[in-house]
Amino acid sequence: MWVEKYGVFTSVKKVKTNLLIAGGGLASCLLAYRIKLLLPDFDFLIVERNHQLGGNHNWSFHTTDINNSQFEWLSPLISYRWNDHDVVFPNHSRTIKRGYNTIASVDMHEKLTPIIGSHVLFNRSIKSLTHKEAQLNDGTLIEANIVINAMGHSPNKDIAIAYQKFLGIEIELNEPHNLQRPILMDASVNQQDGYRFIYTLPFDTRKLLVEDTRYSDNILINEDECLVEIKKYIVSKGWGNYKIINREKGALPIILNGNYSSFIDKEIGMIGMKGLLCHPTTGYSIPHAVQLAELITGELSKKGNDVTQKIKQYSIHSWKKDKFFRILNRMLFWACKPLDRYKIFQRFYALPESLIAKFYSREYSFL
Ligand SMILES: Cc1cc2nc3c(=O)[nH]c(=O)nc-3n(C[C@H](O)[C@H](O)[C@H](O)COP(=O)(O)OP(=O)(O)OC[C@H]3O[C@@H](n4cnc5c(N)ncnc54)[C@H](O)[C@@H]3O)c2cc1C
Repeated sequence: MWVEKYGVFTSVKKVKTNLLIAGGGLASCLLAYRIKLLLPDFDFLIVERNHQLGGNHNWSFHTTDINNSQFEWLSPLISYRWNDHDVVFPNHSRTIKRGYNTIASVDMHEKLTPIIGSHVLFNRSIKSLTHKEAQLNDGTLIEANIVINAMGHSPNKDIAIAYQKFLGIEIELNEPHNLQRPILMDASVNQQDGYRFIYTLPFDTRKLLVEDTRYSDNILINEDECLVEIKKYIVSKGWGNYKIINREKGALPIILNGNYSSFIDKEIGMIGMKGLLCHPTTGYSIPHAVQLAELITGELSKKGNDVTQKIKQYSIHSWKKDKFFRILNRMLFWACKPLDRYKIFQRFYALPESLIAKFYSREYSFL
């Protein structure tokens, strides 16, 4: 146990560990969980600036985005599962018979704390990071044989991005809402600020997550305006009286193009959004995080491992493979009028289900 090993941490200013993971978000937690499953005695340390793992998010993915064995080990962390979901456009609506799943960060924190909590330094901020050490804001120095940067997305001059931005509220209704399955996109709402749709997840018979989402050229979220729109939508659905129990907002990068070899850190392995390891068009990062958790844990189990190199190879390969999606994004953002963007998704969702699944699991490629 980390605390037992190092005694009272606050009195220690220099610490050594085998593997240091900077940031305790989604990618970091999935990696730590996988390490605990396969290498339970492995020495590692996570430094997280907040008091809990994962922040305040609901992360979703399609069942077919990962393979069966990956789904199996991830399963204990899944908070909600559905067998199918709907999409709604001005010209057509459709039920897609494909599983959809959500991991709630609050659940993940509760489930993982007993498993990996002793490896986490909460409420500690990293001031600087090199391939051998981290300097924390409180003056502590952490030395490590391997350093992984999982501190989330930060803008970078080498990569051009647009945004998928949203405000969501979790509500509890007085009466059952009777919504059987998620509505991944309801684009029958008026189009504004780019491609706009409402995303709704039924968490239980009375709880819903309702998000106003926009594929936009700018990162600005007018929270008051979004809230008004969400409330209007709730009324239009006849969902009646409710109270708001949580609120979440975010802006995900939609990758347009860039110079990935300049962007990538040559010395420190970057995972999760730090390495832009997400679906270029949807911003979903769970599949990459799962894949990398397996790859890194496999590498750690070998003597003379080269984790940094493996992460770099994986990232460069993914970037090359995803060229198709970046072209698609450029069409969406550069060749299409903002208020016509919905037509591309409307057309896409008229395709056979197998092709839609391939899109989400990034199986289209020019490689
Ligand atoms: C609101 C929202 C909803 C999303 N929904 C989905 C979804 O449905 N499906 C999906 O696949 N993806 C989704 N994403 C995209 C992506 O999966 C998330 O952004 C995910 O959290 C990325 O994981 P990560 O580990 O890279 O970064 P994060 O989860 O952001 O983790 C980074 C961590 O590093 C910590 N940190 C940062 N700087 C420091 C520092 N200096 N010192 C110490 N700690 C630091 C942060 O506090 C944070 O905990 C969503 C993103 C957002 C913002």
